[in-house]
Amino acid sequence: MNIKLIYNLIFLFSVLSVSLFAEQKKDPPVERISLHDIGGINYISALEFAQNQSVQTRFFDEKNKLELNFPDNRMLLSAYCSFVLVGDNIHQISRPVIYDGNDFFIPAKSLLRILNITNLPDGIVDSSEEYFVISAPNYNIHSVQIERKANGSLIRLRTSQGFNLNTIAISFSGGGWMSITIPSGKIDSLGIVNSLLQYPISQIRCMQSSESAQISFRTKSKIDDYEVFQTPDASEIIITLRIAMAENANKIKEMRNKWLLDTIVIDPGHGGKDPGAIGYTGIHEKTITLDIAKKLGKKIRKNMGVKVIYTRDEDVFIPLWKRTKIANESGGKVFLSIHVNSTGGNKSARGFETYLLRPGKTEDAIGVAQRENSVITLEEATHEYTNFTDENIILATMAQSTFMKESEHLAEVIQTELDKILTSPNRGVKQAGFHVLVGASMPNVLIEVGFLSNKKECKLLGKSSYRKKIAEAIYRALIIFKDKYESTILSAD
Ligand SMILES: [Zn+2]
Repeated sequence: MNIKLIYNLIFLFSVLSVSLFAEQKKDPPVERISLHDIGGINYISALEFAQNQSVQTRFFDEKNKLELNFPDNRMLLSAYCSFVLVGDNIHQISRPVIYDGNDFFIPAKSLLRILNITNLPDGIVDSSEEYFVISAPNYNIHSVQIERKANGSLIRLRTSQGFNLNTIAISFSGGGWMSITIPSGKIDSLGIVNSLLQYPISQIRCMQSSESAQISFRTKSKIDDYEVFQTPDASEIIITLRIAMAENANKIKEMRNKWLLDTIVIDPGHGGKDPGAIGYTGIHEKTITLDIAKKLGKKIRKNMGVKVIYTRDEDVFIPLWKRTKIANESGGKVFLSIHVNSTGGNKSARGFETYLLRPGKTEDAIGVAQRENSVITLEEATHEYTNFTDENIILATMAQSTFMKESEHLAEVIQTELDKILTSPNRGVKQAGFHVLVGASMPNVLIEVGFLSNKKECKLLGKSSYRKKIAEAIYRALIIFKDKYESTILSAD
């Protein structure tokens, strides 16, 4: 036996002992589900999966759909469908769900991916490729919800068993941390950490030990008093926090200022080497959008007392991603992207429409987004754009769901006000995937003010007086939107 071999053996033993040790300490326990080879692809039986996870199932639509009810989420499978619904999110899978009249089979790799990106238990395919290994769900504390009340807040912990209230301890430590220790608690830390935070809680941490669970909340305000309850059905532990009144009032004032509509970002579409659409008179979309933007900005600055930020105020090329970045970094409260439409086909198409960032519903809308997105090909490849599948648009929309209601309202008011001033047809509020709107952390819309491909409208859009009318209408819409937006926020406390 040579020296090298001995070293290798020693190494091997030390690795084995470490992994054995790790195996003993593993928490939470894992479960195995067998894989079914169907046509050379590994599938997982939905009923086995549900049974393994002690999850309730329900068939409906004449047994063509199966619902799995996880403690914090639900999964919906449809026979022969390439999409799986988890909560409200649609996930695409590599192959359609197979239905044998009794059970549903999901491609293992797709299921794995879904488990790992949702708050469902995580899983892996074991190295022998015979089993699907999944963490066994034994959590009894699932999620947290913070609710703001007149003179304090509630922390609601969603639980799936009763706890002895006398053994639950609350303690305070430096840096504004308040910890609740729950003996025999098992935390779904992902569920907790992914819960929506609200004033006065700014941060949550979880610590799981074999005897107890500890959840720590960082509070922004001094807690005057607290109480712990448990609902009679043991579905929640509720902690009431009474917050120092003066600090609370200050906070509300601060929030009011934060949400005053004090900055409007105007984004004139295209620019520089990207002319956008071109009319029969030779006029460029980029020229029209810049002129409307400037007319609008001037009016806002003069009469609204609101700051105006332009993504460009001259004939320069700005990549789409940078436009949203400028908006976010300037603390914008509204983002307006101004464009002019054009169609290769129907030259009689005319009118104005306002878009929201959402999956496109009609071919026309998708076509408009494709044309507006095509400028990416002129950009230097410094930014990686998300490939726009419906799923990715839904994800991008979710990121801005806080502003969705405001964006919808803004789009509606813009259409109404344009309709009052222009004689062109009102084509309504539409939706599609526009890269320029992705990531805007404020209400945002894209306005197509008219069609350059229509002879009559092209002529109108070439007139300064017509562009002034458009700016006037958008300005009026902004006044209405600002009033509504601020009154909603000011009355929110
Ligand atoms: Zn455009």
